[in-house]
Amino acid sequence: MNPLEVYKKLPGKNCGRCPAKTCMSFAVQFSGKMVPASDCPELDSQARSEIGAMLFAPGDWKERRLQELFDEISGLNFALIAEGIGATIKDDGLKIHYMGKDIAVTRSGFSADLNIWDKLLVLMYVKTAGSKPLTGKWVAFRELKDGFIRSESFHEACELSLARMFEENPAGFIQRLSGLGAKESPGFSAKYSHVVCPLPKIPFLVLLWPGDEEFGPDCKVLFDSTVTEYIDVEALLYLGIAFVRAL
Ligand code: SF4
Repeated sequence: MNPLEVYKKLPGKNCGRCPAKTCMSFAVQFSGKMVPASDCPELDSQARSEIGAMLFAPGDWKERRLQELFDEISGLNFALIAEGIGATIKDDGLKIHYMGKDIAVTRSGFSADLNIWDKLLVLMYVKTAGSKPLTGKWVAFRELKDGFIRSESFHEACELSLARMFEENPAGFIQRLSGLGAKESPGFSAKYSHVVCPLPKIPFLVLLWPGDEEFGPDCKVLFDSTVTEYIDVEALLYLGIAFVRAL
């Protein structure tokens, strides 16, 4: 089930009443079977039954893509690519720090019980086998190669969701961010600025501004200018959504 197909059936209100907080994030979580259709109180009965039927459509593209990715990484020399992607060799696989935890990846499986989106993201990162040194230059999603077309989706699914979660419980949010390994990074105009690495060579700079009487809270997520050497923008959008979910 493609999340964009689910998204087209949603009300598109971004009302924040579901646990996913935005429609795009809900679409991804629903298609990964992480939330039921009933979590969106804005869905009418017809749309609910239509997206419910998608769950039982034959041939899940994610399972097929997962198998393709395992086939694609089977030819890689892990010893040669490990340092470039910030991993280490463990037995005949790779140990990678993902969303605050160490996981092991072999040519046929994972050590940890990850959901399918997490598996796809980690395998895409391994397959890309980036090695470019980070520049320390922060850029927005829309500035990335091919980023403009997906920047609004990234804003809705990631930045807007993070701003809402921050608004609900600022102290708890910062604590959960630290739990994923985030470190304060002063020198930015935001009230809170933290750097966190969902994957070793993909740092996120998370900037947060609390709301006031005039404006609501805001969040911006920036990336090292090398990020597309490690993952494409489509996968980066899903990495942002996985990051929201992990928080
Ligand atoms: S999916 Fe979530 S954000 Fe979108 S309309 Fe439904 S409850 Fe609101």
